[in-house]
Amino acid sequence: MSQYWSDLVHTLQPYVPGEQPRHVELTKLNTNENPYPPSPRVRAVLDDAAVDALRLYPDPDSGALRAALAARAGLAPENVFIGNGSDDVLALAFMAFFKQPEPLRFPDLTYGFYPVYCKLFGIASRIVPLNAAFEVDPADYAAESGPIVLPNPNAPTGRALPLEQLERLLAANRERVVLIDEAYVDFGAESAVALLAEHPQLLVVQTFSKSRSLAGLRVGFAYGSAELIAGLERVKDSFNSYPLDRLAQAGALAALEDEDYFRDCIARVMATREWTVAELTRRGFAVLPSQTNFVLARVPNGRARALFEQLREVGVLVRYFDRPRLTEHLRISIGTDAEMRRLVEEIDRLLG
Ligand code: PMP
Repeated sequence: MSQYWSDLVHTLQPYVPGEQPRHVELTKLNTNENPYPPSPRVRAVLDDAAVDALRLYPDPDSGALRAALAARAGLAPENVFIGNGSDDVLALAFMAFFKQPEPLRFPDLTYGFYPVYCKLFGIASRIVPLNAAFEVDPADYAAESGPIVLPNPNAPTGRALPLEQLERLLAANRERVVLIDEAYVDFGAESAVALLAEHPQLLVVQTFSKSRSLAGLRVGFAYGSAELIAGLERVKDSFNSYPLDRLAQAGALAALEDEDYFRDCIARVMATREWTVAELTRRGFAVLPSQTNFVLARVPNGRARALFEQLREVGVLVRYFDRPRLTEHLRISIGTDAEMRRLVEEIDRLLG
């Protein structure tokens, strides 16, 4: 049968997501989910009436959510695109903007879906190494032309570029689309949304999965010039990518309207992150400065893989990447205070 499959399907290396085990007693610090539930307002709108309304098709434009997202950023609805999680938005953006003669540029250590989409959609890429401190250097993106995709903060490093460096990057790349993936921006980084007015080539992608605790609802969005957003809409309509379902539209809108809960939740995650960084550092880990809800930590004595496996055996899941430059590191999502205390206790037991 295999001759009926294209070479692409044979050679495609699909994205490998973190484990999603069903076991309830696990301490799950491997997929950068938020440890806190979504805003109580989400629960309030997902009521019987919302279920009854499921007999109706959803608004194909997610109009109310789109208007609310636009207002929040001081933009117009035509500057907002909504998709089923930011992975959906990214896939559509790759299709819409990155099939260019010049290769798409992105860092060597970055979100694992970018190379997968390149392969899947036949997009040439050029990998730009991070510097020795695992930072993006905008100068590395100044010499050549071509589109760029960059997470800011980057994953799995957790490091973010400040706004003036993003500005430099954009100033040197005005001809092709520059996509800034801001999945983690709310945990202490600066958003490139502030640069949209000056840079029509900029597309900023965000998500409800992390800072709004709605990974299970699948809502992502992009801010950009009306021209770029119209491009995404065209590809979406040609690709039969589905609109957000009714529950996702209602739930995301309710979460967006609860600014106090959002701020409070972020502050808790960031405080726990600082505690975790301090505790790991005291134990000899080299932890990169993080502006996300995870940390990348170099394990003492190169014991990353062994520690990953031992933690797994006791039900603490973290992420180990078997790739160059990362073999001595673990990526650890920030959980509740209790979960992080458990992590540190297990580390003491295993490494102590
Ligand atoms: N971008 C980055 C950098 C991510 O780490 C993730 C989550 N793994 C995503 C995008 C996708 O998030 P979602 O599809 O849940 O919005």
